[in-house]
Amino acid sequence: MNLRDYVASIPNYPTEGVIFRDISPLMGNGEAYREATQAIVEFAKEKQVDMIVGPEARGFIIGCPVAYELGIGFAPARKKGKLPRETIEVSYGLEYGKDVLTLHKDAIKPGQRVLICDDLLATGGTIAATTKLVEELGGVVVGCAFLIELNDLHGRDKIKDYDILALMDY
Ligand code: IMP
Repeated sequence: MNLRDYVASIPNYPTEGVIFRDISPLMGNGEAYREATQAIVEFAKEKQVDMIVGPEARGFIIGCPVAYELGIGFAPARKKGKLPRETIEVSYGLEYGKDVLTLHKDAIKPGQRVLICDDLLATGGTIAATTKLVEELGGVVVGCAFLIELNDLHGRDKIKDYDILALMDY
């Protein structure tokens, strides 16, 4: 099965000149979704992962089935104001302005081996912020896994200290 057949490419979305890669056809096909999930599960097994962390919202879609399959926990990294209990936060730059990502203070125990999952690596800002949150809580980031990496945006450079799995690249 070629997972690329299940990624839709939308020119000029959300803005002129951008090609948006949409993973909803992949999620919508049970076989493709399972194959992608299993590939990340194998990576996580090699790394002896204790916990999955995923940034909202598509990081949940990728990370949760991996955690379920491994029988380990999942912690959501969310935009400021979305998590109900005590959080830590980190701000990160966007193309225009900045955003704040948060994690519950008790989401990770010191020394836990964490795999960060998201649908797509673009500039790397989201994932770099997520690694900071995990490390602030004493977690060990043992890898970052994505369905898709956009090569032109060099997101890999922002997370070059970590092992990266990207199932497809464009
Ligand atoms: P980054 O922080 O620039 O690496 O952006 C990555 C985040 O933006 C991910 O959480 C993605 O869900 C989202 N994103 C950026 N570009 C795309 C795209 O082409 N398709 C789907 N999601 C995207």
